[in-house]
Amino acid sequence: MSTSSTPITPEINAYIQSLFSSEDAFLQQLNKEAEREGIPPISIAPEQTRLLQVLLRAIDARVVIEIGSLAGYSTIAMARALPNDGVLTALEMEPRHAAFIRKKVAEASLDTITVVEGAALDTLPGVISMLQERFNTSTPVDAVFIDADKPNYENYLAMVLPAVRKGGLIMGDNALGFGYIASDPPADELHNVQAMRSFNHTMSAHPQLLSTLIPQGDGITIGVVR
Ligand code: SAH
Ligand code: MG
Repeated sequence: MSTSSTPITPEINAYIQSLFSSEDAFLQQLNKEAEREGIPPISIAPEQTRLLQVLLRAIDARVVIEIGSLAGYSTIAMARALPNDGVLTALEMEPRHAAFIRKKVAEASLDTITVVEGAALDTLPGVISMLQERFNTSTPVDAVFIDADKPNYENYLAMVLPAVRKGGLIMGDNALGFGYIASDPPADELHNVQAMRSFNHTMSAHPQLLSTLIPQGDGITIGVVR
């Protein structure tokens, strides 16, 4: 009998990955190509692809927004959990990343994904109102995956929340702050780790959300809209 938690050792993590990952040859190749093109290797962990897919299926998600898409690894993993009429809007600031994602999305022949290039603070309002008009409701969004610049997570949360339906999900990656969420971060990551602490706190205390933090990969804080 124990009321404490089992530490996730590398062996346990490998075990989880071996059973519960949706990373296939296509996504493996995508990461390799991205690295060759000099795109940083900071996609979500393989086991998080399955986690995102399980969550999206659990809520029967159709309309999803991703903020920060890098090489499209998480984008394509999520799109694969959506129905044929799903709508996944991927917001990405770096033109080089956006071009790479478009290429891989075409290779995967996924017409559910639309890549919107630009800083998310600028593009998000237009994307939200477009979805509201298209689906003729103020809350067309089923789920939002936030994985871009950490200091803006709380701004993204405030912007998207009014457009997410009851029972929809807000998910924020890197909730463990690159491992430093509960310890002293190196000086160059301090502002990002502080931003993640603040985001996690807001998620935990938000009256419109019921939230938790799942320690997979670098952690993902998830809130369901009440
Ligand atoms: N979700 C991806 C990883 C994203 S990495 C995956 O797991 O596969 C973070 C991405 O956010 C980078 O591609 C970066 O260019 C992008 N980004 C950073 N600031 C941004 C901003 N203000 N608006 C949109 N994208 C941004
Ligand atoms: Mg991340």
